[in-house]
Amino acid sequence: MSAEEFRHYGRAVVDWIADYYENIESLPVLSKVEPGQIRSNLPSHAPQKGEPFEDILKDIAELILPGVTHWQSPNFFAFFPANTSGPAILGDLLSSGLGVQGMLWTTSPACTELETHVLDWLVEMLDLPHKFLSSESGGGVIQDAASSASLCALLSGRERATNFASNERGCNTRFVAYTSNQAHSSIEKAVKIAGIGRENLRLVDVDERFGMQADHLAQLIEKDRQEGRIPCFVAATVGTTSSNGVDPLPEIGEICRKNNIWLHVDAAMAGTAALCPEYRWIHNGLEMADSYCFNPHKWMFTNFDCDCFYVADRGALIQTLSILPEYLRNKASESGAVIDYRDWHIPLGRRFRSLKLWFVIRHYGVEGLQHHVRRHIELAQQFAGWVEQDDHFELAVKPPLNLVCFRHRGGDELNQQLMDQLNRSGDLYLTQTSMHDRLTLRLCVGQTATEFRHVERAWKKIQEIAAELEAVH
Ligand SMILES: *Cc1c(COP(=O)(O)O)cnc(C)c1O
Repeated sequence: MSAEEFRHYGRAVVDWIADYYENIESLPVLSKVEPGQIRSNLPSHAPQKGEPFEDILKDIAELILPGVTHWQSPNFFAFFPANTSGPAILGDLLSSGLGVQGMLWTTSPACTELETHVLDWLVEMLDLPHKFLSSESGGGVIQDAASSASLCALLSGRERATNFASNERGCNTRFVAYTSNQAHSSIEKAVKIAGIGRENLRLVDVDERFGMQADHLAQLIEKDRQEGRIPCFVAATVGTTSSNGVDPLPEIGEICRKNNIWLHVDAAMAGTAALCPEYRWIHNGLEMADSYCFNPHKWMFTNFDCDCFYVADRGALIQTLSILPEYLRNKASESGAVIDYRDWHIPLGRRFRSLKLWFVIRHYGVEGLQHHVRRHIELAQQFAGWVEQDDHFELAVKPPLNLVCFRHRGGDELNQQLMDQLNRSGDLYLTQTSMHDRLTLRLCVGQTATEFRHVERAWKKIQEIAAELEAVH
């Protein structure tokens, strides 16, 4: 593709995306295709000869779009958001354009230094403990996802617990890890990958607000110690995926410190709320954590993938993950004056992901980001108020931030039908969880373009379909 063609089609693609965002509200949020339908319209074999770019672009609308669930729709309230924004998309495009691979400082100094710098900015923006700054003992790195960050934290905890012996001799079966029974499934996955074994992951009970019960954690650790096991890792959650529960970090941190256990705090979605001083209570006690992560790719207007992972002691992380084959040796690394991020995560290679984050922060400014986060929380709280005022519905728990867990009082079957019909309507998309052993609907407000009218329309639609179902039940 010549520069001239690239210019021409590049403009066409940007126009296509702008049109898409202008029309996104009119599209059914949840894709309606059947399994296999998208593939059935694709040729069985790759083309032998190159095709005109116009044809390729045309096929996006005809062949691909029907199978797209519109995550950026303002009517998307499912799971947790994965929001994006103009500056993020353009930053990502520039990253693709530069096409650098930043495994070492020397393979593109700007890729490393901008990342270090923006992650230091974020420590200040979220008012995180200063030990996470690169100028202190720790530092931050962009990972693809919270799952990878938690795995790196677990590996570091495992190694620190035995003076980095497992890296040399392999894993023994006496390690134990702890998390609450509400924690994200990525913790269980990390435990499997790290060779700890699922049987050695303890699920700690939660209280009525779905936060970890610290007493129970202490009891489990004590029992494991007495039985000769090696407690090495606790994963606490700030904003659980099911219910947005917040674990009590001060108590958990105290227990970890006493027992010399690595404490990782997973704030994948909710961490973004700490942009606003009034929500910083979610991080109370974070000064006792060994590591922390949150995903700007969930709620901070930065397109997937972008997880920010911080450690208090970068030495432990680097000692856990570092490798040095001859073909990667270079003067800058040996000088000790630079960061080589290849030692801070699982893959060797890495994209220039800090560009999109830098664009987002500069475009919105701290005040702009705060404005949108406050608005989302306000809308969710408004929705929760409507649920409370309607006798047919109840809240499963008082929503701390932007996730509302609620249900119709008519039982699981009615709630299931209600959700299925809402999602089939295409007007909105929400998902479910189980709380108090009952099917519970989740409505999370966090898409970039979501406004009052979208949340209001969602509630009206929920009431309307519920009324129809009540009539037949
Ligand atoms: C979404 C989520 C994750 C997993 O996020 P990825 O970045 O997709 O790995 C982990 N923990 C919590 C609490 C989450 O909400």
